[in-house]
Amino acid sequence: MKSVVLGIGSNIDAEKNMKAAAELLRKEWPTIRFAHVYASAPMHEVHQDSFLNTVAVFEADAEATQIQSVLQSIEQTLKKDPPFKFGPRTIDLDILLYGEEHIETQTLTVPHPRLQERRFVLEPLCELLDENALHPVLQRSYKDLLHDLPPQGCERTNVAL
Ligand code: ADP
Ligand code: MG
Repeated sequence: MKSVVLGIGSNIDAEKNMKAAAELLRKEWPTIRFAHVYASAPMHEVHQDSFLNTVAVFEADAEATQIQSVLQSIEQTLKKDPPFKFGPRTIDLDILLYGEEHIETQTLTVPHPRLQERRFVLEPLCELLDENALHPVLQRSYKDLLHDLPPQGCERTNVAL
């Protein structure tokens, strides 16, 4: 069994799409647990709506590539269709962590390479995981990685998934 950590984000009809994604993820992995939902301003392209993001965790026997296929089919169901890179999207489902494994292929990089740059990932991640645990590649605790980030306008919301 691997502990699988997902990043979930949306900035088109964000509340509706986050809830729809949570429902589809629960159908697939009934024991999945979600952190609080955080609202943040877009990092790369400022002329779009702000994002909602959260992190979820579940235990699975499936290979990371199989999990990625399920995530891609959920993204398609919710019609992920960004008009340009880092543009608005109905839903973004990323594998942040797959146990302690380091995976580096053309289509999958785990741990997610930008996890440590994003307060909207590390804040919810620290709710679900032991914040003193070490990032499997960087070998620094999630708490320390979060501590190093500049303020990024990331607010906890009352959106319930
Ligand atoms: P981003 O998530 O960086 O905003 P996209 O979701 O559009 O961008 O990127 C999708 C691409 O990222 C896919 O082609 C997928 O193969 C690749 N990818 C690499 N690593 C991961 C990962 N850990 N989780 C999800 N997708 C990944
Ligand atoms: Mg993605």
